[in-house]
Amino acid sequence: MKTIGLIGGMSWESSSEYYRLINQQIRLKLGGLHSAKIIMISLDFAEIEKLQREGKWQEAGNILISAAQKIEKGGADFLLLCTNTMHKLADEVQAKITIPLLHIADVTAQTIQQQKIRHVGLLGTKFTMEQDFYRKRLIDRFGIKVTIPDQDDRQVIHDIIYQELCLGQIQSKSRQQYKNIINKLIANGAAAIILGCTEIMLLIKPSDVSVPLFNTTEIHVKSAVEQAISSLS
Ligand code: GLU
Repeated sequence: MKTIGLIGGMSWESSSEYYRLINQQIRLKLGGLHSAKIIMISLDFAEIEKLQREGKWQEAGNILISAAQKIEKGGADFLLLCTNTMHKLADEVQAKITIPLLHIADVTAQTIQQQKIRHVGLLGTKFTMEQDFYRKRLIDRFGIKVTIPDQDDRQVIHDIIYQELCLGQIQSKSRQQYKNIINKLIANGAAAIILGCTEIMLLIKPSDVSVPLFNTTEIHVKSAVEQAISSLS
């Protein structure tokens, strides 16, 4: 089995899901007492969030690169960033390591393509919804049409991520706000919704939504596990 490298802590509320789901999937696939081989570095999200807010992406990138290099030295075979937002720096990180980085948007897009869905609604932080590194990748590399919420709704989605979900607070009022925004995306033609932030799965479940949900945490985990055991059979 290959060793999975994880950079987590962004936030740890979702990193703990990565750890749990990866091990659960390995047990499902290999049975018995099997568990995943993982090297994980968990960062202090307060430091990262401050750099995001101040637009100091290069400094944030240096922190990620340093963690990625330690993980590579530790013997990981490939790397996951346990956050959609920090994939803004995926190319910079990949350039400084020799093991492959498993890009969360790519594996999500491949899953969407397999289901022949062409138009999705995207939820995530404002960085993820608004900036090119994520949305444009889905459009340019995979031909998927991406609709995002309007400006006010993007602020609501973003604030709930940072002020509640990353602090482990799951509130039904926020769930209702998310559901209303999702319904608007569906009314605007989205045939599915990407939960493009690794914490949203804590709030929104498939039963909350009338169209397919693409849970990026779960999809990222499944691809990692497939890759980890790919040489076994
Ligand atoms: N975990 C989140 C994501 O998937 C948000 C936290 C962050 O900014 O990294 O985008």
